Amino acid sequence: TLAGVADDALRRADLFTRLQTITNAQNEAVLAFDTEGLITFANPAARDMLGRDSSRQVDGLPVNDVCQLVQKGGAIDVISRMHAGESAEDQDAVLHTRGGQRVEVAYSFAPLTDAGVREGAVLVLRDVTERRLLQDALAHRALHDELTALPNRRLFLDRLDHALNRSIATHVRHGVLFVDVDRFKLINDSFGHLVGDQLLVQLSERLLRRVGAGDTVARLSGDEFILLVEDRTDIATIAELAFQLCEDLRRPYLVGGQTVTLTVSIGVTSTSPGETRDDVMLAADTAAYAAKASGRNCVRIATDELIVASRSRLELEGRLRAAIDSELLSLWYQPIVDTRTCELQGIEALVRWEEPDGTMVLPGEFIPLAEDSGLIVMLGHWVLEEACRTTRRWTLEHPDREPLQTSVNLSALQLAQPQLPAEIADVLARTGLPAAQLSIEITETAVFADFDANVRTLNALRDIGVHVAVDDFGTGYSSLSYLRELPVDTIKLDASFIAGLGKDIIDAEIVGAVLRLCKALGRRTIAEGVETERQRQTLARMGCPSMQGFLVSKPLRAGDFAAYWDAGEPEVNLRLVEDETEGP
Ligand code: C2E
Ligand code: CA
Ligand code: CA
Repeated sequence: TLAGVADDALRRADLFTRLQTITNAQNEAVLAFDTEGLITFANPAARDMLGRDSSRQVDGLPVNDVCQLVQKGGAIDVISRMHAGESAEDQDAVLHTRGGQRVEVAYSFAPLTDAGVREGAVLVLRDVTERRLLQDALAHRALHDELTALPNRRLFLDRLDHALNRSIATHVRHGVLFVDVDRFKLINDSFGHLVGDQLLVQLSERLLRRVGAGDTVARLSGDEFILLVEDRTDIATIAELAFQLCEDLRRPYLVGGQTVTLTVSIGVTSTSPGETRDDVMLAADTAAYAAKASGRNCVRIATDELIVASRSRLELEGRLRAAIDSELLSLWYQPIVDTRTCELQGIEALVRWEEPDGTMVLPGEFIPLAEDSGLIVMLGHWVLEEACRTTRRWTLEHPDREPLQTSVNLSALQLAQPQLPAEIADVLARTGLPAAQLSIEITETAVFADFDANVRTLNALRDIGVHVAVDDFGTGYSSLSYLRELPVDTIKLDASFIAGLGKDIIDAEIVGAVLRLCKALGRRTIAEGVETERQRQTLARMGCPSMQGFLVSKPLRAGDFAAYWDAGEPEVNLRLVEDETEGP
C-alpha cells in the first residue's frame, strides 16, 4: 500500500541523522517521492504547506508540480538532483504553492537508496517566514540608528565603499558633508534629553529634504551626521549644498511646545578616484574639526594643508598611545621653595616623554593632543598614581624630614569627570599617601570653563583633604572677584607676570594687587618661572611666600630630586640668601 511505501521511505530516511530529527518535528513538512518524481508520502504539515487538505490529493502527483522551490532566481529541480545523488541541508528557498502562495522555507533533501539502488528521495521543508522577518529586522537594526532611523556608520561606510569603487571605473566624484551640531551638550543640559532627541529627529528630517533619493544621510554618533551625495562632480556644488544646510538647520525648531535654535559646523570634501574610505573620512572629519575651531556655525572645505596637519596629529597620537603602553613616560619634579630662605616647601610633578633614542617630548607638545583625543584621562591617572606612590616612598624613607607636598597638574577634561574625587580618594588609599600631601593644580581657564560644576568638584576634593591650586593665574582674564568664591588653597602666579617684574611697572602692580588680595582671602601664593635673583628679591619684598623656577632648580628626574633633597640647603640657595641680605 501507499502507506506501507511511505513507512518504508521514512524508515530509510532515518538513516540520515540530520533528517531523522527533522522528520519527527511536527511543524515540518516531510515529502517522499520515487525515482519518477511521484510523491509517495506527505505528512500533515506537508499537506498544510502545499495547500492540500488530504494526503490523497498530493500522493502520486509529480513533486515538481506540487512543490516549486525557487532559490536565488532559479527553480530547484529536485528530481534531477535526486538522480545526481545530491543532498542539501537547511538551505534557504522560496516555495511557490499551487494555490499561488509564497512561503519562505529552509529545505533539506536526501536521496533514498536501498542496498545501493536508488529508490527516490526525501524532502523536508520548514516554514521560516518568521525567522526571516526577525533576521531582516535585526539586520535593519544593525545598520540603522534607532532614534532617527537613518543609516548608521556601518551602512554609511558600506555605501561609501560602493560609491568609491564605482568612481574607479567612471572617474566620478562624490561629495561628503560632515555635519556636527554646535554645543549640543548645552542643549541637552538645558532642555533635557527628550527635547534633545526630538531635535535630532527633526534635524535629520531637514537633512533628508535637501538630498536626492540616491544619496545617503547617516547618523555617525550623538550629534554627528554625515551625507554622501553621489556623482556631484565639483566642490563648488557641494559647498553650496553645505551653505544651504547651514541656513536650513539654523531655522528655529518647535519641540514639545518650545522653540529651540541651534547651529551646525559642516566639513566638506569631494572624493577623488582611488581614494579609500579612510582618506575620505579623515578629510571630512578634519574639515568639520576646522569648522569648529574657527568659531562654529560655518562651513569648511578639506584642504591638503588641513589634512596634512591632521595626519601628523593622528601620527603623534598613535605614538603617544604607544609611549603610554611601553612606559616611556616619566615624572620629573621641580622644587617649590620659600622665597626668602629657599627652603624646600614642596614639589611639582611634571610629565616627560622620552623616546628610546633619547629625544624628549615636552608636555606642551603632547598634553593638548592627549586632551583632544581623550587620552589625557588615562595619562592623568597614571601621573596621579605615580606621583603619589613616589612621594609616599620618599616620606617613608625620610621619617625625620617634614613630609613633602606634591602638586599634580590636572586637565579640564579630568576635572569634568564626575568620578574624579572618588578616583583620587582611591589612589590615595592605594598608595597610602595622606591627602594633605597632595595638591592638585588646575588652570584658571579650566576652572572657569564650567564654573559651577567645577566648584562642586573642587569642594569634594577639599572635603577629602586634598589641596587645590589655581595654575597660570592671570592668563585667563577672569575677574579677581571670582577668587573669593573659588574653593582653593593656593594661587600660582603665571610666569609671564614674573618675567615682567623689575622691568614692567604694570606687571609689578598686578603682582602686588594679586598678592594683597590673596593675603586678605587667606590664599597662599606661589610665583612661577622665577629665573633671576632680582625677581626673587622683588617677590620676597612684596611678601610672596613661595616660588619655583630655574633660579632654584629646573624640573629634576626622581633620582636627581632625591639627591637635591639629601643635599639639604643647596649651595646656590645659601648664596642667594646672602645675596638678598647684601642686596640693594
Ligand atoms: P605648568 O603647570 O605651568 O608647569 C610649569 C612649566 O614651566 C613647566 O614646563 C616647567 O618646566 C616650566 N618652568 C619651571 N620653571 C621655569 C622657569 O624658571 N622658566 C621657564 N621658562 N619655565 C619654567 P613643562 O614641564 O614643559 O610643562 C608645561 C605644561 O604642561 C605645564 O605647565 C602643565 O600645564 C602641563 N603639564 C605638565 N605635566 C602635566 C601633567 O602631568 N598633567 C597635565 N594635565 N598637564 C601637565
Ligand atoms: Ca602646574
Ligand atoms: Ca603654571
